[in-house]
Parts: sequence; structure tokens; C-alpha cells
Amino acid sequence: MTSSPTIGVFALQGDVREHIRMLEGCGATAVKVRRPDELAAVDGLVLPGGESTTMYKLATTFELLEPLRERLADGMPALGTCAGMIMLADRIEAGISGQLTLGGLDVVVRRNAFGRQVDSFEADLDFVGFGEPFHALFIRAPWVEKAGADVEVLARVASGPAVGRIVAVRQGGVMATSFHPEITQDDRVHRYFVDLVMRH
Ligand code: GLN
Repeated sequence: MTSSPTIGVFALQGDVREHIRMLEGCGATAVKVRRPDELAAVDGLVLPGGESTTMYKLATTFELLEPLRERLADGMPALGTCAGMIMLADRIEAGISGQLTLGGLDVVVRRNAFGRQVDSFEADLDFVGFGEPFHALFIRAPWVEKAGADVEVLARVASGPAVGRIVAVRQGGVMATSFHPEITQDDRVHRYFVDLVMRH
């Protein structure tokens, strides 16, 4: 792979612009992905936060669902953030009736896991491989309820009622965070992903 991978951002729904800015800041070429031919041209893909139920429906309507599943099954690296984490989970809890995912990560993810009182919150996380804590923003976030043997846990909630809950994972080239790394000034999660794409 060249030193500048092309990374797509799934752009049917969610916070696309922020991810593009982050990826470009990390030296990648970032493009929006809305069509199968755009998906075919990328080295890796970001699935942003937003609303996973809507994302799933739009992916079906735009005939991206099967191409996405095929590329993931083929080993395309991917980063899912918040709703994107839900999309990448092999199994979900508290989905709406009939809600399906793309899969790719051997995890059970619970939607809206932190409950109503803590819809949105911020927390400092110890993230594997980062020297300093990562200040994370959570918005109606999911958590990883169960992770398979091949899944590396990258971060857990450090304190409070949800202490110990898994909020970042990686399995091969596929990674996901419960929080929104694109709306901070800290680009270490995106840098981690760009490196992952370059190594795959
Ligand atoms: N609660 C949303 C969902 O279920 C995720 C929220 C987010 O991406 N910020 O898809």
C-alpha cells in the first residue's frame, strides 16, 4: 500500500464531514461512499455515528448492503463509531424489531446502553497503545456486552456506574468505538485506523 490510503466514509447518514477532516489530517485521502462503485475504490471504510436503524434501511435502499458485507467478508478494514459500531456487530441487543447489521466483529453490542440519565457524557479512557488518556464523547452510545476470543479490547469505561464496560474493540482490521472520536481535536483513533489500513 502507498503511504496515502484512500479511506471512504459511509455517507448516507451520520456525521460524515468530521470524519473526512480527521482522516485527511492523518494523511489519508478521504472520500464519501454512497454508491457501490465508490465502495469498490476504497482501501478502508469509516461507518460514522448517527442512527443505526436508519443507516441500515438506507444501505438497503441504496443497494449498498450486500457490497458492504462482501467487502467486509473480504477483509476490508473498517472503523465504526457509535451507530457504526452497531452496524459492525455480529449481534445486537435492544435493536428495533427486524434490525439487522453488516457484521464483521464477533461481539454483542447493546444499543443505547448507558440509559436515559446519561444520554450524553464525556470520559477519559485508557486506550491500548495511547500514552495519554483519550477524552471521549458519548452520545446515546452503545457498549460491547460480549466480545469473542479474537476480539481485542482497546478501552473500557474507567469509573462511574458503567465502570468496566467495553467501549472500543478491534478484530483484525475491523475496529469500533462507542464514542465519537471525530468531534474532538484528538486524532489518535483515526491515526490508529489509518495505520491499520496501511498494514492490511
Ligand atoms: N443510538 C444510536 C443508534 O442506535 C447511536 C447514536 C450515535 O451514533 N450517536 O444507532
